[in-house]
Amino acid sequence: MSVAENIRKFRELVPSDVQIVAVSKFHPAEMILEAYNAGQKTFGESRVQEFVEKVKVLPEDISWHFIGHLQTNKVKQIIGKTALIESVDSERLLDLIDRESEKAGVVSDILLQLHVAMEEAKFGFYPSELKEYLDSGKYKDLKNVRIRGVMGMASNTDDEERVRKDFHTLHDFFEEVRNNKEYDLPHFDYLSMGMSGDWQIAVEEGSNIVRIGSAIFGDRYYG
Ligand SMILES: *Cc1c(COP(=O)(O)O)cnc(C)c1O
Repeated sequence: MSVAENIRKFRELVPSDVQIVAVSKFHPAEMILEAYNAGQKTFGESRVQEFVEKVKVLPEDISWHFIGHLQTNKVKQIIGKTALIESVDSERLLDLIDRESEKAGVVSDILLQLHVAMEEAKFGFYPSELKEYLDSGKYKDLKNVRIRGVMGMASNTDDEERVRKDFHTLHDFFEEVRNNKEYDLPHFDYLSMGMSGDWQIAVEEGSNIVRIGSAIFGDRYYG
């Protein structure tokens, strides 16, 4: 199937109250344009250099989600260009995004990335760590970021029950924070979870943003 056909297919499959981020990393601008012309307006990128190049040549009304690990020395390059930075995985990064956003005169919407998968290597706050940070209330001093919710990934496994359990943990965390009045996070309404291989389970477990790459654009060729 073509990219345009895949876009139309996902629009039908995914419930209308769930946002679809088309993850275009490693794919050329022409393929993004093909998806765009089929009506897709939200794209996800994970590498700063590639993201910045694509923003330059693609339509201005695209909503870009940054979804990759963000190095602190590259923050400045993406500020003002993103609709949502989904992969904020440390307090230091959050502070820096706030500072750079202030300098640029913008407010950046972000998600806190939560680590629940069994792999060690993935980025993100551990639930206890993030809970501790939120309890500290330190984020209330940040005037140029808006914490919009949580992003996470399930374990990379064929064990569907484990995947479901990971999404369930993310959803529980999301609801707990959202319903805690002390936190005072009035814009905390996104739960981003689910990729090509597991988005159905994620949606069943309460996701409202799915990040679909290979099932739309095909395999990625690294290197
Ligand atoms: C690459 C990537 C995706 C998309 O993965 P697919 O399996 O190709 O759908 C989603 N989320 C993040 C954070 C990614 O890095």
